[in-house]
Amino acid sequence: QFPFGRRLPCDIYWHGVSFHDNNIFSGQVNKFPGMMETVRKITLSRAMRTMQDLFPLEYNFYPRSWILPEELPLFVAEVRMMKDRNPSWKPTFIVKPDGGCQGDGIYLIKDPSDIRLTGSIQSRPAVVQEYICKPLLVDKLKFDIRLYVLLKSLEPLEIYIAKDGLSRFCTEPYQEPTLKNLHQVFMHLTNYSLNIHSGNFIHSASVNTGSKRTFSSILCRLSSRGADVKKLWSDIISLVIKTIIALTPELKVYYQSDIPAGKPGPTCFQILGFDILLMKNLKPILLEVNANPSMRIEHEQELSPGVFENVPSPVDEEVKVAVIRDTLRLVDPQKKKRKDTQDSFLRVVSAFCIMWSMKDKQHKHHSLKLSLKLKFYLKLGSCQSVEQAPEAGEELPEAALPSPCLKQVFPKYAKHFSYLRLVDRVAALFIRFLGVKGTTKLGPTGFRTFIRNCKLSNSNFSMAAVDILYIDITRRWNSMGIDHKESGMCLQAFVEAFFCLAQRKYKSLPLHDQVASLIELCECRLAALHGKRLV
Ligand code: ADP
Repeated sequence: QFPFGRRLPCDIYWHGVSFHDNNIFSGQVNKFPGMMETVRKITLSRAMRTMQDLFPLEYNFYPRSWILPEELPLFVAEVRMMKDRNPSWKPTFIVKPDGGCQGDGIYLIKDPSDIRLTGSIQSRPAVVQEYICKPLLVDKLKFDIRLYVLLKSLEPLEIYIAKDGLSRFCTEPYQEPTLKNLHQVFMHLTNYSLNIHSGNFIHSASVNTGSKRTFSSILCRLSSRGADVKKLWSDIISLVIKTIIALTPELKVYYQSDIPAGKPGPTCFQILGFDILLMKNLKPILLEVNANPSMRIEHEQELSPGVFENVPSPVDEEVKVAVIRDTLRLVDPQKKKRKDTQDSFLRVVSAFCIMWSMKDKQHKHHSLKLSLKLKFYLKLGSCQSVEQAPEAGEELPEAALPSPCLKQVFPKYAKHFSYLRLVDRVAALFIRFLGVKGTTKLGPTGFRTFIRNCKLSNSNFSMAAVDILYIDITRRWNSMGIDHKESGMCLQAFVEAFFCLAQRKYKSLPLHDQVASLIELCECRLAALHGKRLV
């Protein structure tokens, strides 16, 4: 920790909340610029909607969602239409404030007219989403899964998934939503931060009982009931890869703005927390992505009324220590440079151990928190005590490290998913015309240059029509956007404009073919132009 500011360059920078350090010129940072914004409920829902428009079947793991307040009329109209078509459909919806977490401000409704329009919603945008009424139950309780995913690199895309995760349980037996039980949060919401306040919450020393368990313990149970656990894992892997493919275009725009290509800068990696719900038929559903998942390995316990203490949580420890250990192992900067077998990651761990053992000696009266942290670092290095922690300069033997918990899924399975990366290519066009580095929005001149260089304007589509398209779409997106800092066309607006152009040009094709054809045309014309300029 550097409470008074950092002096020396580091190999790995571990920020607490988000990417915020623009003075780093080398090394690796554990956060991507713009990740917090990209995974907010509204932005994620928009990115998923774009993918659902292009690939409806591939992206049906994300519940149908509408953005409030601007899509309220659309929400009302679509629900009415679906009810007219199928009068026996009795849906439930969940309203989630944008930027909220830990179940904050969430409520369930049966009818669009139940949306609370007074007060909070106008000042606080939200997402309203189809509620999954038939979740898989274990011990009659609803639960969700927190899986840790390492986005190791954006370009080229590298994704790892932790083999184990956490299952967080509700504390009231589940019943399908009715007007009577809609408000019962301990029955419908799986958030740890809410259920901890229920009298039924069980802290367990074991990883397969209680209100928080390992996901592997659930899989064991499902497997003993005869469930196809292999298929479930493959569905989860595909959900994770598809979700990240939906997020990469936006992330790339932020990346080039904060870390321009060709200039010295750090590289980034990030541990993400995926919240997944299993339906009764074992289909995984994405609830949300967390940019800053909690890495706490202790929980608060009330020793006597009003007296709380932090005590170790074996389930959290089991899952989270392995995630951090493997992340350090994978991003170890020395690994690439050195060919010999000794893993210098161990030196990082040793450094932690030494740092904490010294601190421990200085503070004779050490706090529980400190010893917990020490235990954490020792566990990272697989040693049992401070005495076993290596001395300065010494290295732990490679064999002491447990087998990796992070499994590479991309590029390993890239060939099954590459066809989904269409918006990535649209984002590449967008970035190319952004012009001045450091911006995330396209000005009118940049848009005109894009149209001209790709030769998209003709007698049916004049440059005046191009300007009108730019103004219409940009104005609408800026009126509903959260980011008013910069003027111009954001990536999502450009994607909408691009889809419009594709539909105009290739009328009879399905949307993804229209978009793919226009991308190919643009890439081809830009390559020809570039070639001509070189000559
Ligand atoms: P927060 O960031 O506030 O935790 P989430 O989107 O994770 O918001 O939702 C909180 C909880 O609500 C989830 O953990 C889950 O139990 C429940 N939940 C959220 N969305 C749905 C949904 N579409 N269907 C069923 N349950 C949901």
